[in-house]
Amino acid sequence: MKIRKINLEESEIPENWYNIIADMPNKPLPPLHPGTLEPIGPDALAPLFPEALIRQEVTTDKWVPIPDEVRNMYSIWRPTPLYRAYGLEKALDTPARIYYKYEGVSPSGSHKPNTAVPQAYYNKQEGIKRITTETGAGQWGSALSFACQHFGIACDVYMVKLSYQDKPYRKMMMNTWGANVYPSPSERTAAGRKILAEYPDSPGSLGIAISEAVEMAASREDTKYALGSVLNHVKLHQTIIGMEAIKQLEKAGSDLPDIVIAPFGGGSNFAGLSFPFLRLNLEGGHRIRCIASEPSSCPKLTRGVFRYDFGDTAGMTPLLPMYTLGHDFIPAPIHAGGLRYHGAGVIVSQLLKDKLIEAQAHDNLEIFEAGVLFARSEGIIPAPEANHGIATAIREAKKCKEEGVSKTILFNLCGHGNFDMKAYDDYFAGKIKQHELSQEDIEASIAKLGTPTIPV
Ligand SMILES: *Cc1c(COP(=O)(O)O)cnc(C)c1O
Repeated sequence: MKIRKINLEESEIPENWYNIIADMPNKPLPPLHPGTLEPIGPDALAPLFPEALIRQEVTTDKWVPIPDEVRNMYSIWRPTPLYRAYGLEKALDTPARIYYKYEGVSPSGSHKPNTAVPQAYYNKQEGIKRITTETGAGQWGSALSFACQHFGIACDVYMVKLSYQDKPYRKMMMNTWGANVYPSPSERTAAGRKILAEYPDSPGSLGIAISEAVEMAASREDTKYALGSVLNHVKLHQTIIGMEAIKQLEKAGSDLPDIVIAPFGGGSNFAGLSFPFLRLNLEGGHRIRCIASEPSSCPKLTRGVFRYDFGDTAGMTPLLPMYTLGHDFIPAPIHAGGLRYHGAGVIVSQLLKDKLIEAQAHDNLEIFEAGVLFARSEGIIPAPEANHGIATAIREAKKCKEEGVSKTILFNLCGHGNFDMKAYDDYFAGKIKQHELSQEDIEASIAKLGTPTIPV
């Protein structure tokens, strides 16, 4: 029998997270104060995050130890399996060897608990009683609800209204883990009320929901905010994915991959899988291609600009150097809610600027074709976000066939789609349309930006 699934023992859960900043040739530019435009230090984040996470946000240490209590929680679902995609390879009749790391085995069904658990842990250590957050598709909100419940912290989730309506089961999961869930934009915050006054039917966006959650956290002593993507400490926590994958490929007797692929929203699961492989490139000797896969309706990496911008819609966060489509860009309401974010994390943006990583965009129809082919050849039904990574893997595997070369491709199956059946239903009903964003739309959004540019 061929070995399909490569597992590790619980004792092999990595003991450190990997911090790529230590190895980057050009370090990320500093965040700027939105008023003075002066670089700001880590203390500016103190109203929102616990000290331990702020230290992790700026650390240049290459390795950050994972606390025992966090590793112990990780063992509920980690190590996650690495699969050889024999079924998909056969369906594509490709000479490529395709592997995927499956993060859908976590309690909430995606990679998000990898950071939700340590974030709740450090908040607990510093006596925090309540955490506010936003959620798009509901993946992050459910992961944080699960983690907060374990550590006895209250959790308030602002959920993008479109997803709140489309994904009732995600809300019920969060409620089951004891969280409060509010559709965003809401009347609870000034940021929400401002949007509703202008656009009463607003479907919401991640940027708006972030504004609401930040506003609530900033106004209370015992409350902090948590972000499920974009920030350095989030990417740091996710590197456990790639470190396990390296051990698993070794165990499978496989060469290192030629290509590493992951879907891209703010960059956390992409960073998680790819940074440990990029380390091998940066330390010398390897040339592994790392490709981020984004929707063509929200193409900040492939068509955005590298410039300072806000992390939220209302412009309350520090200015961050990032690939962006403009902070008030509202992407089309595609089902891959986790990829509807206007900007990319700072580290990933710098890596793309330095051409150390690549990006590809996929149309909404192409990604559902890819997801359905995957479900029918491998069994697991992927989250719509994950379908973007699968689409890139298929593209590259087809290229292998055309060129008659056998490459090793690894992608991140970052979540299952068991709560995303409405998306598949819409696809089968022919309701999913090709959607290409016009150059004018992108330019109009960027032209509105009054934020500082970055000299080339
Ligand atoms: C949140 C999420 C994403 C997008 O976020 P990243 O930070 O880019 O990983 C992608 N896929 C799934 C399944 C998610 O839950």
